[in-house]
Amino acid sequence: TETILEVTNLKKYFNHKHVVKAVDGVSFTLKKGETLGIVGESGCGKSTTGRMLMRLIDATEGSIVFQGKNLVDLSIKQMRAMRKDVQMIFQDPYASLNPRHTIERIIEEPMIVHKMGNKIERKERVRELLEIVGLSSDYAKRYPHQFSGGQRQRIGIARALAVRPKLIIADEPVSALDVSVQAQVLNLLDDLQKKFELTYLFIAHDLSVVRHISNRVAVMYLGRIVELANRDDLYDHPKHPYTKALLSSVPIPAPDFEKEETELKGDIPSPSNPPTGCPFHTRCPLVMEKCKTKVPQARQNSNGHYVVCHLYNDKEDMAI
Ligand code: SF4
Ligand code: MG
Repeated sequence: TETILEVTNLKKYFNHKHVVKAVDGVSFTLKKGETLGIVGESGCGKSTTGRMLMRLIDATEGSIVFQGKNLVDLSIKQMRAMRKDVQMIFQDPYASLNPRHTIERIIEEPMIVHKMGNKIERKERVRELLEIVGLSSDYAKRYPHQFSGGQRQRIGIARALAVRPKLIIADEPVSALDVSVQAQVLNLLDDLQKKFELTYLFIAHDLSVVRHISNRVAVMYLGRIVELANRDDLYDHPKHPYTKALLSSVPIPAPDFEKEETELKGDIPSPSNPPTGCPFHTRCPLVMEKCKTKVPQARQNSNGHYVVCHLYNDKEDMAI
């Protein structure tokens, strides 16, 4: 399958009083039709990564090659054309839907921006989209406040689909919803992916949310990917102590985890003053002396299971 997106050494540094390395050298690829989940606690840089892909904020360094073009080099005008192919779904569907506009106007707007169809065709498409996302086409003249959280997220999805994108960046699209509604929206996203050959980058703070929808999962900590693997490898055979800790805190922890090996200590350090050595060492239950001063190297096995931790650095065969 073709690679649709290739992100290489992406960085975002903010200059406040100190330099804040919000994203510090993130690399990954996305193949057409697949879902990559990106998971981490708040402040790990996952949303900033998503926003850089949309060029909502500019990267400090690195490249974002989408369908052969480096988005970092595009002018605002070229980028606008590209946005047709890359759409975003947000965490809070209510905040992202203008309360004074009808659903019809909200869903139609991206089609107007991208000069798609005439007025009649667009209205017809809005009705079709409402049904595609499991809502009634009769809802077109209603306003956002007349809908539940789950319905509003469906409207947000319809708006994202309006311009027939290829890649969708979903930033915590179900985090604000009740658990029962979460499952429905995730199922919808799954169905839409198959129907329209969509590629997803799915950002979440919880490993359980991305489990069923992802083909591969990346775990971020303090601006870096610390582990990335095929879905089953990651959930059944996690390598990084941080991934293990995140998995042990979900309701059904993976087997054979010792509690003392997975319990996180303390709080997330400030990205403006990250720890030396391994950035995770202040919280790692398996911390060793060298972790405090020496940055671990990335290791990858033949399955594409990638991990950054000293526990695997000494294995010469990289059979991690
Ligand atoms: Fe823990 Fe050391 Fe591995 Fe960092 S390098 S995750 S501190 S064991
Ligand atoms: Mg976020």
